[in-house]
Amino acid sequence: MTYFEGKVVIVTGSSTGIGRATAELFAKRGAKVTITGRSAESLEITRQLCEKAAGGNADKVLSIIADVTKEEDTKRIIAETVNKFGQLDVLVNNAGAGTMPGYQDSHFSRPLEVFDYVMNLNARSLIALDQEAIPHLKKTKGNIVNVSSIGAFKAFPSMAYYCMAKAATDQLNRVLAIDLAKEGIRVNNINPGPVRTDFSARNGVSDAARDWLEENWVKPNCPLGRSATPEEMATVIAFLANNDEARFVTGQLLVADGGASISSPPLPTQAS
Ligand code: NDP
Repeated sequence: MTYFEGKVVIVTGSSTGIGRATAELFAKRGAKVTITGRSAESLEITRQLCEKAAGGNADKVLSIIADVTKEEDTKRIIAETVNKFGQLDVLVNNAGAGTMPGYQDSHFSRPLEVFDYVMNLNARSLIALDQEAIPHLKKTKGNIVNVSSIGAFKAFPSMAYYCMAKAATDQLNRVLAIDLAKEGIRVNNINPGPVRTDFSARNGVSDAARDWLEENWVKPNCPLGRSATPEEMATVIAFLANNDEARFVTGQLLVADGGASISSPPLPTQAS
């Protein structure tokens, strides 16, 4: 029996990418899982994967189509989960994006409408979800894991609004961890480096451009020499969410980037 047997976990942004792999892992480890996102089609694929991971038990997976930038939807995600499963043990705030649909990046010259959207999706929505979830997490002594980014403390060109939003989640993490410690609730962030998901495609980066970036940007700048897989992020999230294994870890940023954020560009070699 694993720690997550019988536990109830919400993973936002689980219709693709890191969220999908995370929901699947929790289901495999025995949790009842709420999956959520805007795309019904993608969410259905995740639902099937989770059902399979749960040994074919469809009753252990709740699928909710929702937009986390809308407060009525964030309320619904928490309420419907507790209605169905009776409790909440873990909230994984994973939904996020680098920019607003229709814009390739979140450069500081983009309209303030883009700033508002990016801040809402990557930061404000966490507050909305946390506020609804905390009364339930108090009862179970549960915990929160937020998916941040190394962009919270490294500057990515043309991504001002995204980097600002992720920096806000890192600071929210620290303050919440202190405020909720007395309630027995832990709060932590995972800060991934580049991960192979739909993230760049949603920023308008083609597959060919992504391959070029992998070879010319990720490979030379990341000591482990490649982008991560979503599954490699899922195991880190599950560690932080495990009240046995990570019981003394709170308010932390767990950087999972293959060493990308500690490395410097290679020194030029001396001409011989
Ligand atoms: P994906 O684009 O594959 O996944 C993003 C998820 O967020 C999707 O499930 C999407 O679902 C959901 N989402 C986006 N907007 C909304 C919205 N308004 N309401 C509800 N759900 C929404 O990318 P990743 O898996 O890579 O991203 C997951 C997290 O990881 C994000 O927070 C991202 O910032 C972070 N991250 C990613 C990195 C990477 O290199 N991939 C690096 C560092 C951090 P749908 O479209 O169905 O709504």
